[in-house]
Amino acid sequence: MASTKRIPMIAGNWKMHLTSREAADLAAAIKKGLDPDLKHEVLLAPGFTCLHAVKAALAGSKVFLSSQDVAWEEKGAFTGAVSPSQLIDAGCTAAIIGHSERRKIFLETDEIINKKLKAAIKAGLVPVLCIGETLEERESQKTYRVLETQLVGAFAGISAAEAAKTVIAYEPVWAIGTGKTATPDQAQDAHVFVRKQMERIYGKDYAEAVRILYGGSVKADNVDELMSQPDIDGALVGGESLKADKFLRVIHFQPVLSR
Ligand code: PEP
Repeated sequence: MASTKRIPMIAGNWKMHLTSREAADLAAAIKKGLDPDLKHEVLLAPGFTCLHAVKAALAGSKVFLSSQDVAWEEKGAFTGAVSPSQLIDAGCTAAIIGHSERRKIFLETDEIINKKLKAAIKAGLVPVLCIGETLEERESQKTYRVLETQLVGAFAGISAAEAAKTVIAYEPVWAIGTGKTATPDQAQDAHVFVRKQMERIYGKDYAEAVRILYGGSVKADNVDELMSQPDIDGALVGGESLKADKFLRVIHFQPVLSR
């Protein structure tokens, strides 16, 4: 069911790439190439050290600034962590939470992700919550179970009103940084499942309004087909967001079917 209520969002995750100068240059090139009449939302998530420089480069544009992670505590002895209010101070309005690289490399559990989601919501940041199955889980028919567990765990103890601004990113782990993209049908199928789970958790109105992005090797040459799927409301883009011309093409996607 296509919804005109859901404003598409294209997000760029720059991971642990770029110096401040490089990130500011890339942000400036993206800002310069944006259609001034663009109706959907664009979000950039540079590394922590680049936030100030990117914020300055984006001045005067409608592009949102996001972090790639957030601490669940506000202050204290948490060496290496960055709190929600520190992110807001740096100009962020959003925070990516639960990226598969955080789950896998930094051993973040659903419990930790739940605490981060609560902290981001409390501070007024828009959480971009990432979920997704590994190849092994997909091949052993566990995709739905994994997605359900991740969603139930992430939203535990959070009301529908509190979760209202949260954006969900479905990112099959096997498609991240691998060049293997889920087919539009595979992605659509997973998004329908995620939306059904959100209906079960928070009801129909919430499920119809929540934006679900697809992430996993989204490129200039596959975004149009993906964005033609009725339940794909945007994209979370890694590698392709590091090249201004390619990312601008992703941002200005042209659905091949009417949404
Ligand atoms: C990501 O970083 O979330 C991602 C989807 O990366 P890539 O587009 O490179 O697969």
